Amino acid sequence: MGLLVCKFGGSSVASIEKINNVAVRVKNMQSEGNSIVVVVSAMGDTTDELLALAHTIGNELNLREMDALLATGEQQSAALLALTLNNMGIKAISLTGWQAGVHSDSNYSKARISSIDTKRLEKELMAGKAVVVAGFQGISSDGDITTLGRGGSDTSAVALAASLKADRCMIFTDVDGVYTADPRIVKEAQKLPVISYEEMLEMASLGAVVMQPRAVEFAMLYNVEVEVRSSFNLQPGTIITEVSDMEHQRIVTGVTHDTKCAKIGLYDLPDKPGVASLIFNKLAQAGVNVDMVIQSATRKEHNDIAFTISSDDLPLALPVIENLVKEIGASGMSYGDKVAKVSIVGAGMQSNPGVAAAMFAALAEENINIQMISTSEIKVSCIIDEDSIDTAVKALHRKFKLDQLSC
Ligand code: ADP
Ligand code: ASP
Ligand code: MG
Repeated sequence: MGLLVCKFGGSSVASIEKINNVAVRVKNMQSEGNSIVVVVSAMGDTTDELLALAHTIGNELNLREMDALLATGEQQSAALLALTLNNMGIKAISLTGWQAGVHSDSNYSKARISSIDTKRLEKELMAGKAVVVAGFQGISSDGDITTLGRGGSDTSAVALAASLKADRCMIFTDVDGVYTADPRIVKEAQKLPVISYEEMLEMASLGAVVMQPRAVEFAMLYNVEVEVRSSFNLQPGTIITEVSDMEHQRIVTGVTHDTKCAKIGLYDLPDKPGVASLIFNKLAQAGVNVDMVIQSATRKEHNDIAFTISSDDLPLALPVIENLVKEIGASGMSYGDKVAKVSIVGAGMQSNPGVAAAMFAALAEENINIQMISTSEIKVSCIIDEDSIDTAVKALHRKFKLDQLSC
């Protein structure tokens, strides 16, 4: 008996039939004596459809209004689930993000949760209701609707679990757990029974969309144990938790990929202090997150800088860079989004030399050219041609024998 926060993703609530299955699951958990807070995503591809609809209006879209639009997707599924539960004879109420007390900053489209006022939630739980919260949304201090970035319902769930001091936080999705690689690409990928917060954070940040990175940050910060499991079967999933012993057993835990990358190059920049600072400050002011950066060796007091960003941010970054080319006196710029990032993640690699070399060898064996490299203690990432991404993920999965993982 306890308080459970359960999040059901878009594919788990994609139709009335699936919402019905979710309701049955909620009913079963409740009949075992648990209080339930359910966090839902929008039905199926609703968020993409709303985005596409808005883009028929034009390219220059007001982010405040976009958030007001996108938040409606989750409100629909929350109300539909509450109605379904009611019809099954279960007391249930749906709450929007702001009704549930989710406060955020006003960084529309990628707002961060600043605090959660749990009074209303607690009142409804005390009244014996299953509380269905629309994920992915909050309210700014100006009283405006915000959304929390793609995949943000994961963060709503973990943040609610932390604030309510829930006994468990479960992320129900369309895979059985966290795998050694995206099972849609690597058929031999293995389900990980347990993964550390650190490794999960790296995997999520490097493209494993099964968890939003910010959700993992919250879980780590507030020590919330999260289980990722299937909506469609009763198999145990993957526990994301503090792992100490195991951290050093697996050299490589997973291979991740991210095709939402864009690369920008700036040529013949003057080689003097302040140039990089100017470029990256202007990008930050425009709300663009820069990922990898490389600077070429100096030639005749000039050098080149190339960096990667999310391809979603390309429309924000390009005007900034075009102005900078003129302001700094660079000879030109180039950009492209036909690149992708492939990464290996594993806490054990910090004490095992040669892991990066093995990764580069696996890519070379497939004749894949590496355009950029970045490393940290527990990951190595390479930017490669987008068309080679599936081959690269499969080759690395084989190279590090992840299909033979003994968990
Ligand atoms: P939801 O709609 O439930 O939030 P998502 O589509 O956001 O689901 O996340 C689940 C998807 O994440 C899976 O269908 C899978 O293709 C993808 N995925 C990517 N990397 C991994 C991984 N390492 N383990 C499991 N799933 C992964
Ligand atoms: N519906 C939102 C999205 O598609 C949020 C989520 O699913 O978590 O990104
Ligand atoms: Mg998701």
